[in-house]
Amino acid sequence: MKFTFIHSLEELGTDLRVGVSLNNGKEIYYITGIDADNPDRLVPMSFTCSSGVAMGDLIGPVEHIDNIPDPKEIISSIEETYSEIKSLVLSVDSIDDPIDKVKIINTILLISERLFTSKVGSTENRNLLALPLIVEVISGIIKSGSKYNFKKSDKILASLKKYQKSLSYFAEEVMFYEKNSDPAIALSKIDWNKIPSFSYSGQTTLMLNSPYSEPKYVESFLPETFDDLISYLCSRYVQFSHFQCCSNCRRYFAFATDSKIKNCPRVIETARYSKDIGKTCFDVGRLRSHVRGLYSDETQVLYQRNYKATFARKKKGQVSEDHFAAWSEVARAMRDLCLAGEISYDELEKWFKDNYLRE
Ligand SMILES: [Zn+2]
Repeated sequence: MKFTFIHSLEELGTDLRVGVSLNNGKEIYYITGIDADNPDRLVPMSFTCSSGVAMGDLIGPVEHIDNIPDPKEIISSIEETYSEIKSLVLSVDSIDDPIDKVKIINTILLISERLFTSKVGSTENRNLLALPLIVEVISGIIKSGSKYNFKKSDKILASLKKYQKSLSYFAEEVMFYEKNSDPAIALSKIDWNKIPSFSYSGQTTLMLNSPYSEPKYVESFLPETFDDLISYLCSRYVQFSHFQCCSNCRRYFAFATDSKIKNCPRVIETARYSKDIGKTCFDVGRLRSHVRGLYSDETQVLYQRNYKATFARKKKGQVSEDHFAAWSEVARAMRDLCLAGEISYDELEKWFKDNYLRE
C-alpha cells in the first residue's frame, strides 16, 4: 500500500502509534490514532510485507551483494530521511494551526515514501520497522506543533541501530533454519543478553482487515513503545516461524514450519540483468533452478565430450601441455557460467567450436 495524503488532522486522530498484525505469511503494519468522538482507534494507513521481511530489511544482507544496501547503508538511509524531516520541521516558523500541520505532515509523508515504497511498483513495502520513527514525529507535531522536541523520535532512531545488531544475532543464532532447526533448542544454548527481550507491553485486539482476501477479523497488537514492537515480533517468530536467508539477496525472511523456500518474496529493484527488475527473488530463483534442471545434464555432457576429445589430442602430442592447461581452465569456467544460467547452452557450444585447440 502507498502513503495517502491527508486533508485534515481528524483523519489521523491523536497519540499515533504503529500496530502490527501477523497473519497467513503476511505482516500488516498500520498507523493508528485516537479519535475524540469514537471509542475505536482510527486506522488511516496500513502497509504490508511478507513474514519476517521488515526485520530482515533492518538486519540487511549477511554478506556483500551488489546493489543491495549493506547494514550500514540501511541505517544511513533511515538517518538521512529522518534528518531531512527534522530540518524541514525546524526550518518552519510556526506549525501551530491545523492547516500548517496538515501541510507539513503531507511533506513528511512524501519524504518518507522512498524508505517504504518500492521503486518498481510492488505491493510489498520495505523497511517497515522504521515506520514507528516517522509516525512518532507526525504524532509529536499533531500534539506539540513547533514545540516538538524530537526526544522520543531520536530514541527510536538509536534503538533501530541497537536492534540491527541484536536482531542480526537473533536471526542467525536462534531463527536461521539451516543452523538451528528448532529455535527452542537454540535458545537454551545462547546468551539471552544478546537478543531482544521477549517481554512486551501493549494491547491485543481484533482488527478488521482485508488486504489480500475477504474482510475478516485478525488479531493485532498495539505496542506501548518501539521496544515492545520488537519484543512482540521476536516472541511470535520463536513460536511460529523459522528464518531462511534468501539465496539471491542474502537477506532473512520468515517461513512457516511446513515450507522450505530458499528465496524471499522481495522485489528486485536493481539487478545485473535488467530483465530481473520488478520480479521477486522467489521468481528469479525458481526460474534459475528450472533452467538448471533442464540444461545441467546436457551442459555436463557437452563439456565432457569436448574435454575428452581435447585431452586425447594432447596425449597424441597434437596440443601442448600449456595450451591444454589454459584451455581447460577457461572451459571449466564457461561450463559453470552455463550451469548458473548466465550463458546459454548454444553459447557454450559456440565457445567450444570457436576455441578448438590446434598448434
Ligand atoms: Zn531475496
